[in-house]
Amino acid sequence: MRVPEFKVATADLAGKFCAVCQTDILAGEEVVCCPSCSLPYHAECWRDNGGCAQYGCPSAPQTTKPEPAVQDASSVGWNVDKVCPACGEQIKGKAVKCRFCGATFNSREAMTAGAYAEREYEGKEATKVRNQMILLFLLAATGALSPIMAIVIGKLVFSGSCFGIQYKRLPPAFRMLAVCAFGISCLLSFFALLILVLDS
Ligand SMILES: [Zn+2]
Ligand SMILES: [Zn+2]
Ligand SMILES: [Zn+2]
Repeated sequence: MRVPEFKVATADLAGKFCAVCQTDILAGEEVVCCPSCSLPYHAECWRDNGGCAQYGCPSAPQTTKPEPAVQDASSVGWNVDKVCPACGEQIKGKAVKCRFCGATFNSREAMTAGAYAEREYEGKEATKVRNQMILLFLLAATGALSPIMAIVIGKLVFSGSCFGIQYKRLPPAFRMLAVCAFGISCLLSFFALLILVLDS
């Protein structure tokens, strides 16, 4: 990927359209033009999106899912405004980022606040949560910490969240991991208790 050049929007870029937040660019804002297709973006929107928002552009982020075919676009009504599921402000139908609160969406389709709150982890957040889950699993299997881990992971599985991890937002494989970790920590705690009882 070629390196984009960040700059302050001059008069010639003002009024152009940022395809990430679906808002006009104002003179004086920090902007960047895609090095491949030269579409202008807000610098912040470019960073949030991880590259160009134009599907098929060589500077688009690798993880971008192919957008639905054009006929879907008209039927879904992307040109109609939608409500930001995070803050409730009216935003452009095609926006993948809210202009008001900065919330980012992994699809251009309108989402309800409930669906937004329960969306699966994505991107950097997903990597972080994945690492936390693996750590929880390893700690659960160490024996010494098992009673504590049983409580911690039990809280995650049964009350829905723990350490900021939302159980509902975990990919299915990591929900399984959490359940396994809970099972292992319970089992190890049980054996630890048994040994204590038998010893005394
Ligand atoms: Zn923007
Ligand atoms: Zn581009
Ligand atoms: Zn918002």
